[in-house]
Amino acid sequence: MSLKHADVRDFVMPEKILLATANPGKVREMKSLLAPLGIEIVTRDDVNGIGEIEEDEPTLEGNAVKKARTLYEATGLPALADDTGLEVDALSGRPGVRSARYAGPKAASRDNIKLLLKELKGTKTRSARFRTAVVLISSSGCFVFNGVCEGTIRKAPSGDQGFGYDPVFEPEGFTQTFAELTENEKNAVSHRGRAVGRFVTFLKQMKKFYGN
Ligand code: IMP
Repeated sequence: MSLKHADVRDFVMPEKILLATANPGKVREMKSLLAPLGIEIVTRDDVNGIGEIEEDEPTLEGNAVKKARTLYEATGLPALADDTGLEVDALSGRPGVRSARYAGPKAASRDNIKLLLKELKGTKTRSARFRTAVVLISSSGCFVFNGVCEGTIRKAPSGDQGFGYDPVFEPEGFTQTFAELTENEKNAVSHRGRAVGRFVTFLKQMKKFYGN
């Protein structure tokens, strides 16, 4: 199946969207955002025969497209996937697309944080950003939504909310780390919150202008 060039005038409002993620927090967030638009969320637990999808593309967008395309081709359902990376300026943008596996193929978040703080030891330049690509693939084509959150890397972890690099990432405009904010406070400014926000705005505009 080849992807056709997306033209918003042909956009068909999905009745159901299959999510690539199994993360309960992301599934919960999507359900609550899309329910008002009359869109049902299904997860990989609801469909059979989809194995692990290797995230081996060189870019976040490439990985998100690969995941969404694999699900769409396997099921025919509109599929939504996301991929996130942390870009650290003093490390020339690393760990970036390799954020999950920074300290090794099965690295836990604390291992990744430990390696990050070690690599940044003695470095004054602490600027960094999270970047998320959210991709929808359906019979209407491929649609990409990006979100960025600028911030700095702390010298030591702080806070116990969230996940991943949250304890060492202080978003711009805050004095706390992501791990010290509530889920709602984080979602309002986060990379993923912004990318998902653009996706939801796009769906709302499609509904308003084309009424389908
Ligand atoms: P994923 O694409 O959402 O699976 O993210 C890849 C990796 O980036 C995760 O394993 C985390 O280490 C990290 N990451 C993604 N989103 C966040 C976030 O919101 N806060 C902290 N770390 C994150």
